[in-house]
Amino acid sequence: MARILVVEDNALNIKLFCDLLRAHGHEAEPVTDSREALDAARRFAPDLVITDIQLPHVSGIELIQMLRADESLQAVPIMAVTAYAAQGDDERIRAAGASAYVSKPISVARFAETVEQLLEGGAPAEVQNESGGPATGTA
Ligand code: MN
Repeated sequence: MARILVVEDNALNIKLFCDLLRAHGHEAEPVTDSREALDAARRFAPDLVITDIQLPHVSGIELIQMLRADESLQAVPIMAVTAYAAQGDDERIRAAGASAYVSKPISVARFAETVEQLLEGGAPAEVQNESGGPATGTA
């Protein structure tokens, strides 16, 4: 069981994400107001943070940067969830410090699989490949 902080302003999405995580045996802590997310993360001490990117007030990108700048939270894996991934978004999200992202509407299988990979300490393969990991020799 892992402690997972979920930051998402949409009520239906946050319920879906938390229900899914709980169905997998995890403890999910919802935060709908991004202005409260950093304090909530410090209090909750999560094993994983899942954050929406399109958030009012503090954006998902800003939140990721704040988590990465916080001494007690900088090593916590972050999974970003985004409603659109325009060209360049992908790099922007990763450059901010996210470990992985999934696009909305989410595939339940991919969501759960990415959560488990991040909790096991491995980033999903495509993230490792683009973050300067060892070359595989494939074209
Ligand atoms: Mn949103």
